[in-house]
Amino acid sequence: MSTSMIPFMDLKAQYLAFKTEIDNRIQRVLDHGQYIMGPEVRELEDKLINYTGAKNCITVASGTEALLISLMALGIKAGDEVITTPFTFAATAEVISLLGAIPVFVDVEFDTCNINAKLIESAITAKTKVIMPVSLYGQPADMDEINEIAAKFNLFVIEDAAQSFGAEYKRKKSCNLSTVGCTSFFPSKPLGCYGDGGAIFTSDDSIAQACREIRIHGQSKRYMHTRIGVGGRMDTLQCAIVLAKLERFEWEVQKRMEIGQQYNQLLDKAGISRVQLRPDRTSVYAQYTIKVINRETLQNRLAESGIPTAVHYPLPLNEQPAYKNLCCPDCTPVANELSKQVISLPMSPYLKPDQVQYIAANVVA
Ligand SMILES: *Cc1c(COP(=O)(O)O)cnc(C)c1O
Repeated sequence: MSTSMIPFMDLKAQYLAFKTEIDNRIQRVLDHGQYIMGPEVRELEDKLINYTGAKNCITVASGTEALLISLMALGIKAGDEVITTPFTFAATAEVISLLGAIPVFVDVEFDTCNINAKLIESAITAKTKVIMPVSLYGQPADMDEINEIAAKFNLFVIEDAAQSFGAEYKRKKSCNLSTVGCTSFFPSKPLGCYGDGGAIFTSDDSIAQACREIRIHGQSKRYMHTRIGVGGRMDTLQCAIVLAKLERFEWEVQKRMEIGQQYNQLLDKAGISRVQLRPDRTSVYAQYTIKVINRETLQNRLAESGIPTAVHYPLPLNEQPAYKNLCCPDCTPVANELSKQVISLPMSPYLKPDQVQYIAANVVA
C-alpha cells in the first residue's frame, strides 16, 4: 500500500461520485435564479421531514444558527440556565452565552464521551430552562433519560445533532428525539453542503412557527416584525447540494458504519481504547475517535506515515478563556481527562478496507 497521504475525510471522492446529480442540481438553481427561499428550500425541508420523522423542518444558515434560533424560539433570555456538556464544539455554549443565558457544564461519560445523564439532575436550579445534550462524534446521547428528567422539571430538550444526522436511537432518527433537534450541513459533517447550512427539527407546531419567523427577521408576514429575529436562511444553492447528496446518504451511512466496525475490530484486537457505542443506538461516525496516553507521539508517527489526525477537542469549554469563569476547573474531571487523550482517525464513506487496515496497523505499531 502506498504511503501517499490518506485524506482525513474525502469530499473530493464524494463529489466525483455524485458529480452529475450535484452539477444538475446547481445548474437548475442558476436557471431559475431564486437564490433565496427558492423551491429547493421547501423541497429539502420536506425530504428531511420524511427522513427523520419529525413533523417540521426549518432549514437555516448553519448549525450554530439552528441552535441560536431554537433557543430564541423557546424564549431563552438573560439569566436563564442551559445545561450542556463542556466536551463539544464551542458553538454549543456560544449561542447560550450570546443570549445572556448561562451554560451550566455537566461532565461526560468516559466511554461514550456524551453528557452523563446521571449528573444532570443535581445541576438543575430554579433558573434552568433547557437541557442541551450533544450527540458527539455521531452517536446520540442518553435521550430517554434526559427527556425523563426534562419532563419531571418541565424543561425543554434541544439535541445538538450537528454530528449525528442519520444516526438512530432505539430505531428513531437523531434530530427527532426531543423537543427540538438541530443539525449542521457544514461540509465535513456526515451530510454536508458546500458552504454553511443547518436545520431545526421539531414536532411542536408553535415552536416551528416561531423558528420560521425568527429565521427571517421575526416576520410573521412581509414587513410585519412580530418578534426579534435574525437573518438566518439557508440559501437555495446549498439546499440543492444537500438534495443531491441525500439521494445516496443512506448508502454513505451504511459505509460509515461498516468502516467504523472494521476500525473497532482491528483496534479492539490490539487493545486500543476507543469511543464505545451503546447497543440501542447507531453512530454515523462524524469522527472515529480513540483514546491514547501518548497522543502527541502517535500523532507525529501517523503523520510520518501519511495519516492525518485531529483532536476533538483539546480543551473542554470550561477550560477555554471565554468560558473559564462559568465552572470550576475541576468540576468536569472526565471531560478534562478525555481532552488529553482523544484523537480522531481518518473517516469517510470512501475509505477503502485496505486503507483502514493500514491506518489501524500504524496506530498499533
Ligand atoms: C459543527 C458543530 C456545530 C456548529 O455547526 P456549524 O454549521 O458549523 O455552525 C455545533 N455543534 C456541534 C457539536 C458541531 O460539531
